[in-house]
Amino acid sequence: MSVLAYIGIGANLGDARATIEAALARLGQLPQTQLSAQSSLFRTAPIDASGDDFINAVARVETGLSAPALLEQLQSLEEMAGRERPYPNAPRTLDLDLLLYGEQKINTATLTVPHPRMTARAFVLIPLLQIDPFISIPGKGAAHQFAPAVAGQAIQKI
Ligand code: AMP
Repeated sequence: MSVLAYIGIGANLGDARATIEAALARLGQLPQTQLSAQSSLFRTAPIDASGDDFINAVARVETGLSAPALLEQLQSLEEMAGRERPYPNAPRTLDLDLLLYGEQKINTATLTVPHPRMTARAFVLIPLLQIDPFISIPGKGAAHQFAPAVAGQAIQKI
């Protein structure tokens, strides 16, 4: 049985655009997983992070992986991208967040889904709504209702 999952992708170190393109391709090559939609790439100013502007995108995958198994795969893709965390919220080569996993709500020590900050960040909401304008966030309702509150955050389609 497969589930639709949404993944937030961000990079702001090195060739961020190439990193995002590679991550999108690799997501489609994960076991039991197909890339079913990808947003445009967006340029955003850093929030709760330092360094250059970020490049962000959102991917939708159809996966037979469990949520923890998918998270593990995302973390190994981050590792492959040469992620280094010299200090908290340091610039990162690649950041992958599991935003939504079907209609499930998950709260474990290592995984919170829906991703708790997804409704407050233009760099997640705008690409997500580009893929699925009517998507609903479990426990929160229609994603588009949160868009006005993030309208002040600078985000530019590239
Ligand atoms: P970050 O610095 O954003 O990459 O945070 C990574 C940590 O967040 C990992 O230890 C994960 O176990 C945890 N985490 C909790 N919920 C999520 C989620 N929905 N997606 C990605 N990481 C998560």
